Amino acid sequence: MTTSLTATDRAHLARCVDLAREALEDGDEPFGSLLVGADGTELFADRNRVSGGDATQHPEFAIARWAAMHLSPQERARATVYTSGEHCPMCAAAHAWVGLGRIVYASSSAQLSSWLAQWGLPAGPVAPLPIQTIAPGIEVAGPDDELSAQVRALQARARGIDSAQSR
Ligand SMILES: [Zn+2]
Repeated sequence: MTTSLTATDRAHLARCVDLAREALEDGDEPFGSLLVGADGTELFADRNRVSGGDATQHPEFAIARWAAMHLSPQERARATVYTSGEHCPMCAAAHAWVGLGRIVYASSSAQLSSWLAQWGLPAGPVAPLPIQTIAPGIEVAGPDDELSAQVRALQARARGIDSAQSR
């Protein structure tokens, strides 16, 4: 099921984009994610940390592990994961295995793939499959037009592309 974004969703996504920017400025890839409980409280936040050499250090994977350690199955099912970029297959699988709830993303994997193609860059080593291909039971929402444009600019910056000229 795909649902539309609310104003609250956009506020959480804006924070994910801020975390993505922080990651980029620290030498990591520009991705940031949040775990928000059923009452709207931010429970955990992280951003990409691959610059140390471990390419599996994605924030969505960190969220799945944190949730498995700290939340009951009921709390996990009612929690929402917000993320600047749609989960990769690894993270979508981790999300589903630990029983987390809805996912809201600012930009989709299909968008990232099309940006890389536009910039003449190779695709990554993992197929950019949609979350619901990996985890059909997960409710998802996204992308958001305005926030995905911000993510595109960060992804361009990460690759030394002038995003204004590459449109
Ligand atoms: Zn991932």
